Amino acid sequence: MQPDADVLVIGAGACGLATAIAAHDSGVSVAIIEKLDRPGGNSSLSTGSVPAAGSRFQREAGIADSPERFVADLMRIGGATDCPDLVRRVVHTSAATVEWLADSVGARIALVTAYKHIGHSVPRLHAPASRRGQDLVDDLLRAVETRGIPLAVGNGASALLPDGRGGVIGADVETINGERQRIIARKVMLAVNGFAGNRDLVARFCPEISGAQYFGARGSTGEAVLWGEQLGAGFGNMGAYQGYAAVSDPHGSILSWTTIEKGGIIVNGAGQRFGDESAGYSGYTPNVMAQGVPCFAIFDQQIFDVAAAEEEFVELASYGGVKKGATPADLANLHGLDADAVTASVESYNKAARGEQLDAFGRRDFALAPLSGAVYICRVVPGLFHTQGGLMVDNDGRVLRSNGQPIANLFAGGGAAAGLSGRTGASGYASGNGLLGAIGLGRLAGLAAADEVKSWNAA
Ligand SMILES: Cc1cc2nc3c(=O)[nH]c(=O)nc-3n(C[C@H](O)[C@H](O)[C@H](O)COP(=O)(O)OP(=O)(O)OC[C@H]3O[C@@H](n4cnc5c(N)ncnc54)[C@H](O)[C@@H]3O)c2cc1C
Repeated sequence: MQPDADVLVIGAGACGLATAIAAHDSGVSVAIIEKLDRPGGNSSLSTGSVPAAGSRFQREAGIADSPERFVADLMRIGGATDCPDLVRRVVHTSAATVEWLADSVGARIALVTAYKHIGHSVPRLHAPASRRGQDLVDDLLRAVETRGIPLAVGNGASALLPDGRGGVIGADVETINGERQRIIARKVMLAVNGFAGNRDLVARFCPEISGAQYFGARGSTGEAVLWGEQLGAGFGNMGAYQGYAAVSDPHGSILSWTTIEKGGIIVNGAGQRFGDESAGYSGYTPNVMAQGVPCFAIFDQQIFDVAAAEEEFVELASYGGVKKGATPADLANLHGLDADAVTASVESYNKAARGEQLDAFGRRDFALAPLSGAVYICRVVPGLFHTQGGLMVDNDGRVLRSNGQPIANLFAGGGAAAGLSGRTGASGYASGNGLLGAIGLGRLAGLAAADEVKSWNAA
């Protein structure tokens, strides 16, 4: 049967777009389908931060880093993982990934030196200046368009087509208007992200965060898990997820974690701190979740000024999501909190930051704290951003059965594949693990799928 495309990419987020560009540039034909009426998925909502070790951008900035150091960081924060080889492979190709993004895709990314964020012992996040994932997605889309790669939005894959020998040979597709068609392809890439938008799957695999609001894109409804189960695929790291401890409420945009990393704190509705915020925006999510009510981030002018380099933070502040007061008591009054409790929380924290006492919750990294001068407050709630568990794949993104054998012609990456954040929970998520799995593994899968097509053509 004549295929409609050599490689069919299902899902037009960062992973699918990276796969498509890499495969196309290797000389095979590619088609992308996207079930929603616009591409981008969670990637558009992200801060567009992609970590890489040993990149030329790091060398230019005088930052000494290596893949070994990055792997050690991921293993330290993530703990046990179902796919240690994949972690190593994606990390060892991470510098090539971001350089490819800049040079071949034309993405406007630069090394972030203002902060390291969670899990990284040196600055290694590469991101758009705006810290908007949409900018990164726009650059990927431009590269797709320039190459003439067809991308059909409003076309969701409804099932994978079996090839009769245990592999796949394309997908059934349903448009938003209910029209159906069948796409035959030599290779199929599952770039449909994870299952954070599927309540049943979250309750089954990540019960700890079940019930939290999902702040990602609508498309993450878990087809990779559902189809993988039908095909007898193996799964890995299914309990791991990225949470976010400080989604601004009611605005719904993220409060930049720079505000906390640089020395801010989070108090609950009683005006009291309840843990060590340096666990990070993902790792601290269960702590905020356990408070059961909105919480409040508090930081000072110095920290505000650092965060003000980020467009989304400035936007949140301009919409009134971040409020200013002369003292902690003023801040408390703005939200009807107990002024004495908030003042006592800030004073106790400041003593620890000045080294006059140990922090009550064991925090040791105070950055720009103690908090002084004008102070700011933002009401926050915890959110689920994406799941990190998924299909077991080999080092080139080939989907594996539970017995370790590949399912012929089927690839996966990004949120559809097992992630880089350890087996379970929110604390294993290092900043950028999502997009590194998406773009890094997407590129590798695109290259491998194209190689398989070319070998088959040559045979
Ligand atoms: C607010 C927020 C901030 C984040 N910040 C960061 C960050 O700074 N750095 C980082 O590394 N990660 C971050 N993440 C996580 C990151 O966004 C994801 O891990 C990453 O975008 C996953 O990429 P993906 O291509 O696999 O999925 P997506 O970008 O979600 O793309 C998947 C696409 O597949 C489509 N799709 C789904 N099912 C089908 C189907 N059946 N047929 C056709 N199409 C389908 C979806 O509609 C979607 O467009 C953040 C997440 C959120 C929500």
